[in-house]
Amino acid sequence: MVRTIDGTEALTADMTAWRRDLHAHPETAFEEERTSDFVAEKLASFGLEVHRGLAKTGVVGLLRNGEGPAVAFRADMDALHIHEQTNLPHASHNPGRMHACGHDGHTAMLLGAARHLSAHPNFQGTIAFVFQPAEENEGGGRVMVEDGLFETFPVEQVYGMHNWPGLEVGKIALRPGPIMAAYDIFELTLTGKGTHAAMPHLGTDTILAGTQIVNAWQTIASRSVHPVDSAVVSVTQFHAGDTWNVLPATAVLRGTTRTFRKEVQDMVERRMGELAKAIAGGYGVEAELRYERRYPSTVNEAGATELARRAAAGVVGESGLDLDPMPSMGAEDFAFMLQQRPGCYVWVGAGPSDGGRNLHSPHYDFNDAVLPIGLSYWVRLAETVLPRAA
Ligand SMILES: [Zn+2]
Ligand SMILES: [Zn+2]
Repeated sequence: MVRTIDGTEALTADMTAWRRDLHAHPETAFEEERTSDFVAEKLASFGLEVHRGLAKTGVVGLLRNGEGPAVAFRADMDALHIHEQTNLPHASHNPGRMHACGHDGHTAMLLGAARHLSAHPNFQGTIAFVFQPAEENEGGGRVMVEDGLFETFPVEQVYGMHNWPGLEVGKIALRPGPIMAAYDIFELTLTGKGTHAAMPHLGTDTILAGTQIVNAWQTIASRSVHPVDSAVVSVTQFHAGDTWNVLPATAVLRGTTRTFRKEVQDMVERRMGELAKAIAGGYGVEAELRYERRYPSTVNEAGATELARRAAAGVVGESGLDLDPMPSMGAEDFAFMLQQRPGCYVWVGAGPSDGGRNLHSPHYDFNDAVLPIGLSYWVRLAETVLPRAA
């Protein structure tokens, strides 16, 4: 039984209009100029103090109500490089760009919460409403932290959310500990001695060495990681050769790894290098591995998760909570904020994920039924993590 906060019909209508406006004008990493203006204008009109420029297009709205602790609520604002295929009236006006992850909805819900809490400040303290650019791939969350987010706005806790297709509307999922994985990328360059394909004995075969390495890397998850722990090593590119009858002198493999724990992440990187070097060496090929850490794993702190659970139960009821969701091997740059401050990241149910309704599908559209639920969660969270107004 969902209990949204009272009197939200008008606000929900406004959030729906904002969401569709943002959806029609998607902007990608660090180029969220229109979106940033849109957010800043709205926050100012609600009477918040607006700060701009963190991570280029980031916006922070401050809402103060007397003395008390400070917390941050965060939404992401960026779209993806996807060609939208929904044919909706509010479909993307920007070819090749699309809000296919629902960040339009996240932005609209946090704006709605800012407006509601500004009009009904049922808390004592300060809320920093953080609108972050470049969640997809480019780590806008990391850049905001590096640009001094927590020095400029010294909050004690930080909270985030994501709409979650595959989880019913009216449900909220959360858990203490890791909820999303660390995301790293790698590039392996193999250098050998190219030769005539009919005279392989005169060279060293980078393609053969590469295929053996791809196979060997699959043993990392099955033989080096503890059986109840998790890791994924996915080779997603294998580039070698230009013609039919030449064994190429170089081959390049690229891909991604996912892990939850730092120890496993370190071990995966080390084992990938060891296996590549040893196998390539056996074939007379040189191996050079470039391994780049992108996003750490998203880890919820226990105390903040308990507060988030209480706030969520106030909206979707105890029966609407999923307190033991399977963590996702996807990644989220909110992780960088959670490395700096205790906090919690929740998944808000967005309904079925089939028929193109999953995140990053060209047929995806944020489910507007989620708007009043996400709004209500933010409002209840403010009342839960901060002392009530006297
Ligand atoms: Zn996404
Ligand atoms: Zn997303």
